[in-house]
Amino acid sequence: MPDELLSPSIETAELTWQDGVPESTRFGDVYFNREDGLAESRYVFLRPNRLSERFTSVPAGGSFVVAESGFGTGLNFLATWQAWREHATNQSATLHFVSVERFPLQRDDLVRALALWPELAPLAAELADKYPPMTRGAHRILLDGGRVRLTLYLGDVCEAWQALQFKADAWFLDGFSPACNPDMWQDQALAMISAHSKPGATLATFTSVSRVRRALENAGFTMNISPGFGRKRDMLAGSLPAEIPSDQDQPANSVAIIGAGIAGCLLARNLAERGLPVTLIDSAKGPGAGASGNLQGATYVKLGVEFNDQTELALTALCFTQRFYNRFRDQYWHPTGLLQLAWSEQEQDRQRRFLNRNAYPADVFYPVDQHQAEQLTGVPTQTGGLWFPGSGWLEPAKLCAELAAHPLIRQQFQTDVQQLQRLTHAWAIKPATGPEIVADRVVICAGHLTPSLLPVSGRFRLKKIRGQVTHLESQSLTSPRSVICGPRYLNPAQDGVAVVGATFDLRDDNPDPTVASHEQNLQELTDLLPGILEDTEGLEESVEGRVSFRCATHDYQPVADELCDSEGQVSPDLFMFTGLGSKGLTYAPLLAEYLADKLSNQPQCLPSNLMRRLASRRLHQVEKPE
Ligand code: SAM
Repeated sequence: MPDELLSPSIETAELTWQDGVPESTRFGDVYFNREDGLAESRYVFLRPNRLSERFTSVPAGGSFVVAESGFGTGLNFLATWQAWREHATNQSATLHFVSVERFPLQRDDLVRALALWPELAPLAAELADKYPPMTRGAHRILLDGGRVRLTLYLGDVCEAWQALQFKADAWFLDGFSPACNPDMWQDQALAMISAHSKPGATLATFTSVSRVRRALENAGFTMNISPGFGRKRDMLAGSLPAEIPSDQDQPANSVAIIGAGIAGCLLARNLAERGLPVTLIDSAKGPGAGASGNLQGATYVKLGVEFNDQTELALTALCFTQRFYNRFRDQYWHPTGLLQLAWSEQEQDRQRRFLNRNAYPADVFYPVDQHQAEQLTGVPTQTGGLWFPGSGWLEPAKLCAELAAHPLIRQQFQTDVQQLQRLTHAWAIKPATGPEIVADRVVICAGHLTPSLLPVSGRFRLKKIRGQVTHLESQSLTSPRSVICGPRYLNPAQDGVAVVGATFDLRDDNPDPTVASHEQNLQELTDLLPGILEDTEGLEESVEGRVSFRCATHDYQPVADELCDSEGQVSPDLFMFTGLGSKGLTYAPLLAEYLADKLSNQPQCLPSNLMRRLASRRLHQVEKPE
């Protein structure tokens, strides 16, 4: 049995059901009122927080943040989302709902519990569809076309409030009764609430226990007792004193993004959908001209044997990305499943150690033997491996073009940026020709060209790595039904072509495809899947392909952060988003979400341990101690 502490999987809720109402076996308490849970939710949580009225006044581009302890069935969340739909009139305003759950319900249980309310059915169906795998840590879930963003932390309440960065407008404290579940109502957990609250924040809870009331008063809330719902005598509501709003931490009014590859296009679209105007700049003629311009690319990460921060980041990115790309299903996203083949003895050994050490839910991946691998991929494989049912492949160039087409994105192509200059409260972007562009904040997403644009001292440990892909005509191979990865990846053929790639050439600047690189790709492919090619004789001479340059950091981990110079000085309002190496399609959606959270001053989707992995200060030769 793997060490419980290392396991990415989280223990789920054990339920007993009575007349369709779930009760927690562990805590011996109900999730909601047996007679009418939805009416209780509105009475106890929405009404005292005055959500309907406050939702109406959220401006375009603004946001409202509700935080909750105890996600349970998600009923409170759905009631809030329903009220948001009814009362928030601005299409570009965002509802953030931040919640924590130590023992999450399995998806089927969630569906069964929420089936009690037909009026919530469409919302419940969308939540169930996007409900994350049962792994510890923070999950960001986009709903209602991004108008609603749920941050669901699977873990203990104290751990969540320590790890997450957000400021709430309203709180729902809903963690079973303090007598059944003292952990949820510890002073430590209650004390952290005010640090996560905006001035004037409000709070409501079903309990009226005096210890809880005193702890909240000590945390700065003015508390009131009022009649409870149904047979409950009393409940509590409270608020923090309001303050005159300051100019600090204002969201940006305008953002310029340099680089229209997958990172830049995802970030631009994300900000635009939150109501922020963006200028997207690139020296090329259109989006996706560089490393994101390949015909096909796979969503692939290699999860480490140790479940450390690096593995957690890869897992968080993979899970977010699979859900995110589903909006492009049947267009540019093909969730065919992906096989990570145990292609060599070394890889077999690694996969064995990995499986012995970790327990992952089967919707992330599960091990398969050779027979299953062949059934799933439709080609002879020699060995088994790890099967990722939610992964697949993308058409990145088409996706970039689609992402960049939004009324709030001003596209500025064929613009060769030469220099960035700091103005008093903004940045001036100076192109080789044409007028300068001024923006409050700038994000450099220029891949391997990033170092030449950084207006600060010090050498950044970023490198350029050539990658050549080979286009195989479908009659030259047995095309798999899913993506297969090993030392190379192979995608299923589309429109008569299957892409295999890519070479990994350090210190090679050749921008043109070479026969030697095709030969390498074909050799690696036949080592991985012997017999997959019909006839290899002279094939390297006749195939076509494409070269692009990846940008990688010294530790092969991405960067998404404010720019920091070698002295540790942060450049105000200047960010970098690069170093995605060959995993850009997988990491970029999550990191774009994270940077968009930062740029709009909204709750952040990543916990602090993962934010540290993305820091720009680590790129300098001499690292300062943390
Ligand atoms: N708000 C929920 C809803 O709308 O269905 C009901 C919440 S239920 C009353 C309380 C929840 O708190 C349970 O799902 C329970 O597993 C969770 N919980 C209990 N102790 C916890 C802890 N220490 N940290 C985080 N969640 C906890």
